[in-house]
Order: sequence, then structure tokens, then C-alpha cells
Amino acid sequence: MTVYCLGSINADNVYSVPHLPAPGETLAATGLFRGLGGKGANQSVAAALGGARVVHIGAVGPDGRWAVDRLAEFGVDTAHVVQSDHPTGHAIINVAPDGENAIVIFPGANARQDGVRIEAALADAGPGDTLLMQNETSHQAEAAALAVGRGMHVVYSAAPFDLVALGAVLPRLSLLVLNAVEAAQMRSALGEVTGPEVIVTDGANGATWYFDGQCIAAPAFPVKPMDTTGAGDCFIGSLVAALDLGKDRTGALRYATAAAAIQVTRPGTTDAMPTLAEVRAFLTERA
Ligand code: ATP
Repeated sequence: MTVYCLGSINADNVYSVPHLPAPGETLAATGLFRGLGGKGANQSVAAALGGARVVHIGAVGPDGRWAVDRLAEFGVDTAHVVQSDHPTGHAIINVAPDGENAIVIFPGANARQDGVRIEAALADAGPGDTLLMQNETSHQAEAAALAVGRGMHVVYSAAPFDLVALGAVLPRLSLLVLNAVEAAQMRSALGEVTGPEVIVTDGANGATWYFDGQCIAAPAFPVKPMDTTGAGDCFIGSLVAALDLGKDRTGALRYATAAAAIQVTRPGTTDAMPTLAEVRAFLTERA
């Protein structure tokens, strides 16, 4: 089956800093890493490396050809990534020595998707296929409605968290994935959500899947984190790939937890995503 990812494509500038800057503080970074990022691109890459067929739906500016080429190098189908007149989205990511991060994002072309183009991209999609989205593009509600109309699964990562954006897609979702902070924000605004299945990730504490009044907990694998940027995206992309390849909830959770554990031990975002073979080897070592 195919995973269609309507998602952001960013140029990531990752700065190593002695600590996260306080308000008004100017800090000298000790390192700079530049690469492909954006929650959408991250999740597409994680899913493609996890073995799924992935079609990315997105937009870059005139300065973004390199990002599309990079996505393609990871095995993502980029036929539905268009060039817009707006600059490619970018992110300024500060990473402290303990792996914690603080991020500023300029959405650029990510916020200028086109409904007609999304419809064309989903023209061949059907039951068994998945629409994967995050809250870094425009047109999420339209895409979700189209996907449900085609009988697709709709998986949504409510990040960055926004109640209005979540409310616009919530009735269409099969699976909602949030980190612990986002889950607390959602519960304080909406109480317990009924409808989609829900996964809450919680960093080194692991992740829990809630469905049909039951839950499955997946403890994180103990590793020494170097850079946790993109851990959630690695988890979600890997999870969707594992489900797409036929794993059940427990198997998909275990696969995603292992993939994210590997990812946090490496610098960067897309460049840190593990392959299917790497995750399998990691799990075999820990069996
Ligand atoms: P980010 O915003 O940094 O990309 P997130 O807040 O969306 O991440 P987290 O809950 O921090 O997502 O992490 C997602 C998953 O990654 C966790 O459920 C866990 O399985 C794995 N993970 C994250 N941090 C660690 C860690 N320090 N050690 C092992 N696994 C981790």
C-alpha cells in the first residue's frame, strides 16, 4: 500500500549551544549542521527508510530544489512536491548538551499548499492507503476529507499543537499521535477524546497506544541521547511504515520505539533516521 504524506519541507539549521538561550540572551553556537527537515519530510523519510512506499505532497520555494532531491535520495516519491513563489520553509534549531532543543520555524511555502493539487495527488489512493499529516502545512482539513472519501486511513501528528487545526481534522482521523505536552494541552481543552485511536509519546518514558478502551505501553529503549530533534517524527513515520507493512499495534509500537531510540543517538533529523535493516539489527540485539 502507499503512505501519502501531506507535509512540510524545511531547511534545518541546527546549532549546538552550551545551553538553550534565555530571553534576551545572545549565545555563541559551538557547531552548525545544515540539512533537510520539517515534520513532513522527516516523517516521509522515516516511513520510506522503514520500507513503505511514500508519496510526499508538499511545496518548496525557488531555493528548495536541493530539498526535493534529498527527499528523493531517501526513496520518497516527490512527483507531487511543487515549486511555489514563496521561500522554502526553514527552522532554527538550538540543541543543548543534554539533547534538549528549542526551535523557531518559518513556514514559507509549506503554508501555501493547493487543494486542486492535493486532490490530483490522491487520485490513485484508496482503502488500505494512509494519509499522514502534521500541523505544519495548510489544507489539512481538505486533505483529510478527501482521504476519508477514498476510504484511506488518516494519521495525524498534532504538532505544533493548535486546537483549531486539530478540531478541523479530528472527526476524520483514524489515529492521532501527540507527545505528552500536546496530549495534556488537548485534554485540558477537550477532555478525553473519543473517535480516533490515540498514541501519546513521552520521550525516554516511551509511548502508549489507547484504543477501544484498552492501552498498550511501549517503554523506550535505554540509549544515550545525543540530539532528540525529530524523535517524534521518526517514531510516527516508522510506526506508519510498520503498520503499512502489516505489523499489528504491538509490533508497530516496538518497531517505532526502536527506530526513535536509534535516531536520538545521532545528530540531525532526516539524516539521523534509521533504515529497516538498522532497526531490525537493533531489535535482534535486544531480543
Ligand atoms: P521531538 O519534538 O523532539 O521531535 P516529540 O516530543 O514529538 O519529539 P518524544 O515523545 O520526545 O516526541 O519522542 C518520541 C519517541 O521517541 C518516544 O516515545 C520514545 O520511543 C523515543 N525517544 C525519545 N527520546 C528518547 C530517549 N531519550 N531515549 C530513548 N527513546 C527516546
